[in-house]
Amino acid sequence: MERYYVTTPIYYVNSTPHIGHAYTTIAADILVRHQRQRGRDTFFLTGVDEHAAKVARVAAEQGLSPQEYADRIAVAWRELPRRINASNDFFIRTSDEEHKRFVQGFLQKLYDNGHVYQDVYAGLYCVGCEAFKTEGELVDGKCAEHDREPEWIEERNWFFRLSSFQEQLLALYERPDFVLPAFRANEARSFVEGGLQDFSISRAGQTWGIPIPWDTDSVAYVWADALVNYLSALTYARPGENLVERFWPAVHHLLAKDILRFHCVYWPAMLLAAGYEPPRQLFVHGYLLLDDRKISKSLGNVVDPLDLIEIYGADPVRFWCARAVSFGQDGAASLEGLHERYERELGNDLGNLLSRTTAMVARYRNGTVRKAPTRDSDIAAALAPLGADVAARLDAFDVTGALERIWEVVRALNRYVEATAPWQLAKDEAQADALDHVLYDLVDGIRAVAVALSAYVPETAERVLEALHQPLELAWAEVAYGRTGDVEGIEAAPPLFPRLDAPAPAA
Ligand SMILES: [Zn+2]
Repeated sequence: MERYYVTTPIYYVNSTPHIGHAYTTIAADILVRHQRQRGRDTFFLTGVDEHAAKVARVAAEQGLSPQEYADRIAVAWRELPRRINASNDFFIRTSDEEHKRFVQGFLQKLYDNGHVYQDVYAGLYCVGCEAFKTEGELVDGKCAEHDREPEWIEERNWFFRLSSFQEQLLALYERPDFVLPAFRANEARSFVEGGLQDFSISRAGQTWGIPIPWDTDSVAYVWADALVNYLSALTYARPGENLVERFWPAVHHLLAKDILRFHCVYWPAMLLAAGYEPPRQLFVHGYLLLDDRKISKSLGNVVDPLDLIEIYGADPVRFWCARAVSFGQDGAASLEGLHERYERELGNDLGNLLSRTTAMVARYRNGTVRKAPTRDSDIAAALAPLGADVAARLDAFDVTGALERIWEVVRALNRYVEATAPWQLAKDEAQADALDHVLYDLVDGIRAVAVALSAYVPETAERVLEALHQPLELAWAEVAYGRTGDVEGIEAAPPLFPRLDAPAPAA
């Protein structure tokens, strides 16, 4: 059986979740739900990164120990996947004892394999990025990402020989789909070609973190700890089972572009150094921009995804995230856009289609649909390529394109209602057969679309299938024409997406 392991980055707990985190988690959930529909053996991991230096600082500001602070804020983070209806198999916290032990073993392997040495490090460090900065990367002496001056840090650290992995990394990038989209692979490749500097995997003078096993006065650099979560989780997510053999290296890492270097360069090198296979694939996405600015707590422009879910429900927010911006690119999104898609696309295109269809079946056929597929059906033609097209796009992480492909069929179904005018056919007894075929095609078409959409809007898909009195069968083979059998008892369905007030202008 083919395996599909998908990860989100683990999120820093120095703040509460915002829409940018929900965005990655939603995309990962769409991908993994889809792969499950295709019968793949899947695993979906998300979680939080607790060992950042800034976590200790924020905790101190609040008069708490780092662990107390992390325990409190982890509650909101654990809530995020639940609220957006993400079907993660495990939620990792880097303060989990099992993770800490695994990281120590992993770093020990790097050390034992001769890839670690001690040196003095001095440089400019941005606490926001948790990374050293070169003068060239600064704008007016400040980190462009965080609009703050980096600090001068000088200490004795343990270094990982990243520079010795240049050739192996370049060979990896020869794999055409190792890093996607292609322009991100080029970005990683040019970074490696530009010459790699060894990087420090330890921090002296800190206590919040995982002790370096051979030098317990130092703790692991937060990235040397965090990246390893993708492996460590597999060793304890299911008590008594080690899933490493099963899911490594069948992993697909999703990440935003600001952490490309850590994931596409440092991580594969660390894995090779420790004796593991590099990941199967990395997909680097852009930012969902509200008002053309990156949605980020550090810039104070925050939309709480949980607030949006309160108003619209999880499915419309998932739909909007997948559709508002082409996944992979940066793009502007707005709350008005969310409202508009809720009304026009979900409410009208899909919701009205279901309401009209079920109302007509109830009215003209007493709620009964007889199995009546036809060979030259327009709906059969529209559905024929859908399953393969959507699968191909989602295999290439084209979350937005796959949804647009499904929506083409939703629009075709709406055109079909107008073109066949069942309300006219119903007036003419001689057209009884034609009406049966049209109603069958509509019910069957909506059913197939619901199955195709269920990775995006799982609750809605279920409600559509229930309204059509269809079994809750989500296997991908159901995205095909003519799978609906005889049905009875269909009633006019209530609106899937009731009208809501437009959002108030942002305060
Ligand atoms: Zn920064």
